[in-house]
Amino acid sequence: MRRTRIVATIGPASESDEVLLELVKAGVDVFRLSMAHGDIPSSIERLRRVRALAPDLAIMVDIPGPKIRAGSFGTVPVSLPVGTDVTLIEGFAHTSTASTIYVERADILAQLKVGDRIHIGDGGLSLLVEKSGSTTLAKVTSGGSVMGKPGLSLPSSILNDRLPTEEDRARIEALRTEQFEILAVSFVRSAFDMVSVRTVLSRDDVMLMAKIETGEGVANLDEIITVSDAIMVARGDLGVRMPIEEVPHLQKLIVRHGIRYARPVVVATQMLESMTHAQVPTRAEVTDVANAVLDGASAVMLSGETAIGEDPVGTVITMDRIVRRAEESFDYAKWGSSLGVQQIVGTGTQSTRITAAITGAAWRAAMEERAVAIVACTRSGMTARAISRFRPPMPIIAITPSEITARQLRSSWGVQEVFLSPSTNIDELCDFAVAQMKKAGIAQAGDPVVIMAGSSSGGTAVTDTVRMVIVS
Ligand code: PEP
Repeated sequence: MRRTRIVATIGPASESDEVLLELVKAGVDVFRLSMAHGDIPSSIERLRRVRALAPDLAIMVDIPGPKIRAGSFGTVPVSLPVGTDVTLIEGFAHTSTASTIYVERADILAQLKVGDRIHIGDGGLSLLVEKSGSTTLAKVTSGGSVMGKPGLSLPSSILNDRLPTEEDRARIEALRTEQFEILAVSFVRSAFDMVSVRTVLSRDDVMLMAKIETGEGVANLDEIITVSDAIMVARGDLGVRMPIEEVPHLQKLIVRHGIRYARPVVVATQMLESMTHAQVPTRAEVTDVANAVLDGASAVMLSGETAIGEDPVGTVITMDRIVRRAEESFDYAKWGSSLGVQQIVGTGTQSTRITAAITGAAWRAAMEERAVAIVACTRSGMTARAISRFRPPMPIIAITPSEITARQLRSSWGVQEVFLSPSTNIDELCDFAVAQMKKAGIAQAGDPVVIMAGSSSGGTAVTDTVRMVIVS
């Protein structure tokens, strides 16, 4: 059993039916579909196809926010050595070259000033503006190679759009009737951004994931987490907009905060970057993935590696191996006891406080009695996410009446199996849970199992019961 989830970004290298099915077999839990590339109808068509092929996985749709992209450099790396003069021109659906880069955003080039820096992709390549205007001239100051449609990071004073941007609003409207589980929101700077996106989406069956990738996002982390269902440490843009040496420390901070709020936290970007072309990752990348697991990440994400890489399936298999090995070294007891039975920070409602207390009691009982599993009977998935924050060594089993919740729980750490519940009666749920676990080989006669369930307490459904059941 692997507890940390794998998110794979789908792109030209992985969107065929054949590769998608191979990726499911290799262990992907969440498919990420970025709406930064292509138009809305083709994104929706791809979403429906992935949904049909992967009915049990979670689908994360990622909206790009005010991210500006370059016209495609194609699928073969284009080299931009230091000192190269490049011309930047506004243009859509054009091919960029080593001397001309098309900027897919209207009215932005005129705002650049001489001396501004432009970062390409996840920060390795940068340009210095030497002449501004609708045709901007710039020099490469940090060289490298580039392919696909990289993001262009411009000074943040230029990107002061409110979320959702007009383009994202159109994307969200098109997504309103589609089947997907998570909406990842780029460049979130405040709780207000998330609330605005939620208002436009007008759905409560989709988890909203805030991508933390700006200084403002970090500064307002607590208020953002409070109104989000999940968090992403978007290290690509974070490493461009913050001093790069801050990234490992921000990763630890964001992971820790997210989990204290019982939110899944995804660590993203450049995790196995070299595998876009190579068959074996660098030692540093292997160490990075393992460290993300040890930091407590709920999920680790592959971006270009699976979207445009040469071997998306091999990359997922490699990531799976690294994660499983790292989990052998994870100190489960220490993590859980450092969390203690403290509240799920920030939310403060009575039902959340009760869920926090019950899951704390369930974790302690399961640890003391060495339970073989912890079962969370859950409608929204909250109880499973709340017990997951303790990172228990035994499997978490979720029982839910909702297929949407079942798929959303693919983003939660340690939720090994989800069964659809036939009943709301606590005794029947306990019997059902035990029978399912025996059938799945998770529990045998004599094994202790901890089960959490709920009733309508004071008129609201809340997880208010924890039982220790000895399997008969
Ligand atoms: C990032 O910047 O790390 C990130 C995940 O965002 P995107 O891939 O959408 O640019």
